[in-house]
Amino acid sequence: MLLMVVMITISVLWMADPSRRSRPPAPADVGAGDAPDGEGELAVDESGLVAPGVLCRACGYNLQGLAPDGLCPECSTPTARSLRGDLLKYCAPSWLRRLQVGLLWIIVGIIVQAVLMSAMPILAGVVSGVTAAAGLPSGGAMMTTIMVAFGLLMGGLNVLYVIGAWLVTERDPGRADDEPVLSARRLARYGIAAAVISGPLQTVWQQGGRAGWAAATPGVVAALVVVAITVLGVATIVGWVSFLVYMRRLVLRIPQRALARHARIVMWGYGSYMSLGLIVGVLAFTAFPGGTPPAAAVTPQTMSLPVIVLAVGACLMVPAGLLFEIWAVVLFFFCRNALRDVESQTRTHAWEASVPIVGESEPA
Ligand SMILES: [Zn+2]
Repeated sequence: MLLMVVMITISVLWMADPSRRSRPPAPADVGAGDAPDGEGELAVDESGLVAPGVLCRACGYNLQGLAPDGLCPECSTPTARSLRGDLLKYCAPSWLRRLQVGLLWIIVGIIVQAVLMSAMPILAGVVSGVTAAAGLPSGGAMMTTIMVAFGLLMGGLNVLYVIGAWLVTERDPGRADDEPVLSARRLARYGIAAAVISGPLQTVWQQGGRAGWAAATPGVVAALVVVAITVLGVATIVGWVSFLVYMRRLVLRIPQRALARHARIVMWGYGSYMSLGLIVGVLAFTAFPGGTPPAAAVTPQTMSLPVIVLAVGACLMVPAGLLFEIWAVVLFFFCRNALRDVESQTRTHAWEASVPIVGESEPA
């Protein structure tokens, strides 16, 4: 198991390392507004005034028709800062910093959850060992209580993702306020937030099923819980897929095409893995009241389609989940580093050194 983690980590690190792809970009690789010397074309019209559609990078004010060497009438940031295209190195450094902090929250969240998850069997073993040594009845109830508490802790840790996603998906202050209601940014924000409810709900329902709570629950309530788990689960999956779509668009504005490619792979991989997990979970909830097949019931005679799908799904889930979780951590780590480099570029640009953004600290 440990060997598997190490091997996956090394191969993902090798694949994702942007320095491995340090070949000079082909002309077609250069993003719009990113001239080969790294400086974009100035967005001015024929008369030398700010072109239509240019918004202030710091506050979003429409700068059209103003003098390119003036100040934003709204926030006094020099207009020159907003005239060089959509690349992140022309964006507000404080916003870029919040993106990095957000990614760090998410990385810590994934690692903490993975460590706790692998500690769970050990915890379960210790508890049953202690109860046996103390001569207590090998406690199903105690075990259930511990598992429920553990599940609630795991679900509660989703808060780390929500904080991180909230920071990463903060609106670019230099973007127009005309994004669609269901933009990738918004879907990521609210979808990932759904995990705070769906995670604990799922665990309590599943562990409670073992203790026979589900059997004692009226059918209508049980059905409603399964529906809620499904809806929130779908929302969470949509949230993470949208988050990766949004991340991909952000790294394309660095521009970092290798990271964008990896974001797309993780998006598909993670999305399919989580969808499979949800389908298996819902099948389990509907096939067995309470979600867990009693061990004695699974015999060749009771091998129905749900049981087979469940078994195959469970076998695929562990390595797939591990692979894409490690891949995601590595991806977010490299994205964070790339954003940190971009943030330092916003401060070292010669054309910017003389025109600091109001409210930003001076470069050292
Ligand atoms: Zn402004």
